[in-house]
Amino acid sequence: MLFVGLGLLGGLCTLVTCSPRNPKKPAMETLTQLPDEPTGKIVKSEAEWKQQLSPEAYHILREAGTESPNGEVYQTFKHQGKGTYHCAGCGTLLFSSDQKFDSGCGWPSFFDPAMADHVITQIDTSGGKSRIEVICAVCAGHLGHVFEGEGFHTPTDKRYCINGGGLKFVPNQDG
Ligand SMILES: [Zn+2]
Repeated sequence: MLFVGLGLLGGLCTLVTCSPRNPKKPAMETLTQLPDEPTGKIVKSEAEWKQQLSPEAYHILREAGTESPNGEVYQTFKHQGKGTYHCAGCGTLLFSSDQKFDSGCGWPSFFDPAMADHVITQIDTSGGKSRIEVICAVCAGHLGHVFEGEGFHTPTDKRYCINGGGLKFVPNQDG
C-alpha cells in the first residue's frame, strides 16, 4: 500500500511540475526580410511539416484548420502597415497589403492574391457546405476560402478569407 501511495503522490507531483507552460508564440510571424521563394513544388511528409511548423500553423495548413475569428492574429493583421504575406509553410508570396480590406468577418481578408498563380482553388464540401477552398500552389497548404459577390466595394468583389496563422508578414522596407 505504501508503494502505491507513493506512486500516486509521485504521479501527482509530476503532473503539477510538468504542466505545459505554453510559451507565447506570435500569432502571425513577422520577418525582417523576404523569404526565399521556392523554385518548384514542395512535398514533405506530415512528420516533416509537424517538425517545421508551429502547432497552430500545422493545424491550419496541413489539417485545413480554421483559427478563431477576431482573435489575436486578426488584431495583429488589422494593425499591420504595408507589406507582403507569405505562406508560413514554404515562403511563397501569396497576398499583399495592396489587396487587403476590412471585411469585418474576423479573418484577414483580401480581394485578390498578390500573384494569381501562387494560389489555387478547389471545391470543398466539408461540413455539409460547398465552399471554394484556397490553397498554396507550391506546398498545397490550406489557407482559407474565397467568397464572391457579397457586395464589397472592392475591384473584384471577392473575399479571400484567410487564416493569418498560415501566413508570415514581411513589412515593406520603405515603410
Ligand atoms: Zn506554401
